[in-house]
Amino acid sequence: MVNTFQFSPEPIDPSTLRGALADPACGGYASFEGWVRDCNDGRAVQRLEYEAFEALAVKEGERIIAEAIERFGIARAACVHRLGTLRIGEMAVWVGASAPHRHEAFLACRYIIDAVKHRVPVWKKEHYRDGDSDWVNCERCATGAPEIHAGAHAHVALPVPDYSRQSALREVGASGQARLGAARALIVGCGGLGVPAMSYLAGAGIGRLGVVDADVLEASNLHRQPLYALRDCGRPKVELAAERLRALNPAVDVRTYPVRLDADNAAEMVADYDIIIECTDNIATKLALNDACLRAGKPAVFASVYQYEGQLQVVRPGGPCLRCLWPEAVRDGLVGNCAEAGVLGPVPGTLGTLQALEALKLLLDLPGQLAETLLIFDLLTLNISRIRTRRSAQCPQHALAGDRAPSVTPESLEVEFESLHAASEAGYLIVDIRERPEQALRPAVGAPVHSLPLTELLYGGTDLPPASKYLLVCAAGARSLAAAQELRARGRAPIFSLRGGLAALDSRA
Ligand SMILES: [Zn+2]
Repeated sequence: MVNTFQFSPEPIDPSTLRGALADPACGGYASFEGWVRDCNDGRAVQRLEYEAFEALAVKEGERIIAEAIERFGIARAACVHRLGTLRIGEMAVWVGASAPHRHEAFLACRYIIDAVKHRVPVWKKEHYRDGDSDWVNCERCATGAPEIHAGAHAHVALPVPDYSRQSALREVGASGQARLGAARALIVGCGGLGVPAMSYLAGAGIGRLGVVDADVLEASNLHRQPLYALRDCGRPKVELAAERLRALNPAVDVRTYPVRLDADNAAEMVADYDIIIECTDNIATKLALNDACLRAGKPAVFASVYQYEGQLQVVRPGGPCLRCLWPEAVRDGLVGNCAEAGVLGPVPGTLGTLQALEALKLLLDLPGQLAETLLIFDLLTLNISRIRTRRSAQCPQHALAGDRAPSVTPESLEVEFESLHAASEAGYLIVDIRERPEQALRPAVGAPVHSLPLTELLYGGTDLPPASKYLLVCAAGARSLAAAQELRARGRAPIFSLRGGLAALDSRA
């Protein structure tokens, strides 16, 4: 129990904990004990419950202990937080620190308890004497924005959430509203896409909203993240998002995860939610979520933006996924992010709003849901392209799941060759539609190849050079088929797709 952070379902016993911190080199010891009090904001509290996202919370707690040891040069420190139901007067949290001198022990103790309150994902539900109950997080509210704190759980009667303007829709009604109230959505990324997505979902009265982001607010974020305020720069985005969302709708159970989602923690994160809204500009995060959602059988709404362009795609269990379309997009930075490429605020604003819309349509089971389609928005020309997506036989995600992609590909669009040389000999102009970094990474060889990435080809204003027939190639044949279908639909005739993509050629070579 030295230099650790732990949760305990049992009552905390400070005497044994204190003993573990004793050290002959230390002349000073300080501890903090937090107890359950009988009132909060004037409301009589009867008992409370603590819930935690344990694995991540312990990791973050241990990071805080290590920081305190490093920062204050203390010898030992530990923290125990209770979970479960607690009565009045019970100890909720204990922090202890021992150091050669008392001053450092006091400072470290103070640092640890403050950081635990701010950064560790623990949620508190208060049960009041009047029978009511509420998820609260007063410590966090009290730090930065007192007016929001007062608004979120004030003493005076507050207006209650009113969803009448949305439940008036025939397709929603009271039953749809109840459905939303029972639904749990996870927003991954609290930036330009996440801000509108989470705001609309909170306003709509979703039951639980998890927000994931490891970053702090920077002034350069605000033009596309207008939920936040300039004075909040430097504070963790999940903390700010939770404050604003609770102020917007105190009925929503907002849970914060101040971490970066990756392949290691994705499965655990999605487990507690019904739908995932992916709002990062990070390819690795998108792919980790794609995989975790497919395995867990949960739908996910993806969006990304690049300068004036946005893409929207909903991945459902059993349907085509991100890897079907972007098999080689495994490296970060394949698609530029806002920091490097620049973006107008309403571009992610529009896409994030559409993500909220698709999430609501899905949760309410409304007609017209986006399925098996990649929507590409050019927000300069306001041109929208729909690209039909299909499960790729080469997709490792579906192969792993043990099922084969159905052979639904229209035969007439797909052609097979043993090499690009053979295709060239047969009179095709070969067009590599992979993104340029992919092309640089694994160049197409064997014949002259015209380079024209998918997005430029579809509406970049760059036309194909004249030829009697064209062969579109990509990594595994999914994107080239989608592009060929799209171009055929636009009336561009002799356009074909290389079946299986460059991967199929490699395997025969
Ligand atoms: Zn796939």
